[in-house]
Amino acid sequence: MKKIQMVDLQGQYAKIKESVNNSIEQVLDTSAYINGPLVHEFQADLEKYLTVKHVIPCANGTDALQIAMMGLGLEQGDEVITADFTFAATVEVIALLKLTPVLVDVEPDTFNIDIEALKKAITPKTKAIVPVHLFGQVANMDALMEIAVAHNLFVIEDNAQAIGATYTFKDGTKKKAGTIGNVGTTSFFPSKNLGCYGDGGAIFTNDDALAHTIRGIVNHGMYTRYYHDVVGVNSRLDSIQAGVLQAKLPNLNTYCDARRNAARFYNNAFKNNPKITTPTTKSNATNNCGQICDICDCHVFHQYTLQITNGKRDELHAYLLEQKIPNAIYYPVALHAQKAYKDTRYKESDFPVTNELIKTVISLPMHTELDNDQLEFITKTILDFLK
Ligand SMILES: *Cc1c(COP(=O)(O)O)cnc(C)c1O
Repeated sequence: MKKIQMVDLQGQYAKIKESVNNSIEQVLDTSAYINGPLVHEFQADLEKYLTVKHVIPCANGTDALQIAMMGLGLEQGDEVITADFTFAATVEVIALLKLTPVLVDVEPDTFNIDIEALKKAITPKTKAIVPVHLFGQVANMDALMEIAVAHNLFVIEDNAQAIGATYTFKDGTKKKAGTIGNVGTTSFFPSKNLGCYGDGGAIFTNDDALAHTIRGIVNHGMYTRYYHDVVGVNSRLDSIQAGVLQAKLPNLNTYCDARRNAARFYNNAFKNNPKITTPTTKSNATNNCGQICDICDCHVFHQYTLQITNGKRDELHAYLLEQKIPNAIYYPVALHAQKAYKDTRYKESDFPVTNELIKTVISLPMHTELDNDQLEFITKTILDFLK
């Protein structure tokens, strides 16, 4: 059996080596390291893939979030609501811009922002909502967009974990994750579903004026060379990374399928076990699946995350590492409990779900190169341990 890895970047690279190397060589041969033709080609390819008018590449997914918020003109004191159970980058940029983060609980089945908790958190100061499509599954965007429209709030989708996912609305309309709100952001960090070989990120929008504003912000606030109209940043996707991404983008759908196949294997192995809750996949209330479904387009399984309900999560975590099965706890601490983001307005009783999830979740190896031998070994080891 091949060595099991949490993410197998080497195995994936081996299959696309020629096209990736050609792209990189093209950059080296032309020395077009910054803003070269491959950046523009990748941008156009991604716009087409996502069916979105504007993709603005930038340096990483954290910058993408920050720049999106700057582009929307959010100001000090504006409240921005996001999920308590996510990677810190989401809340970090809110705080960094001196906006006021408002963390809310998540749903117990999808781990995505809880719609009732979101409604309760809205005040006259609320300006924006940041849904995070956590672990690759799109949040309930039907309900969320309805609330945003009713309260005149911006929606910034943190799509760092769900690029390639497709959301089906109640009326049957389909949209790619990250293209539903006013603006979407993503990360091309190597281990993300569409990863480059360094840092990278992008911002998506269908709003022409916002795209124009953001293109200036990523480039020192310049709209005409050496004329700085707004305070901007320096945030670029370099040409080598764009070349890697351009070579990988045609494989993204295949990568999504490979992840879903691995998830299906895991689901089948663990179903009906009373000590394990497998991930719930649900497109939304009344989608084309009509109900909670096995595996569907709304989930691209950035992570495959179980809940261990017999109190043995930490023991399982340690045992699997002993057995050379990598695994991880995403996330071990709720954001509202992090030193940097504590706020006297929060009560522990506001976050019953997150407080439970941090004790029960465990993420298993998930990538495009998992084979059946590996999956069998992983699932058997877990089931034997939990007997
Ligand atoms: C990875 C990630 C980010 C940040 O992306 P970087 O490219 O590492 O800056 C933001 N939000 C979420 C949910 C992420 O998973």
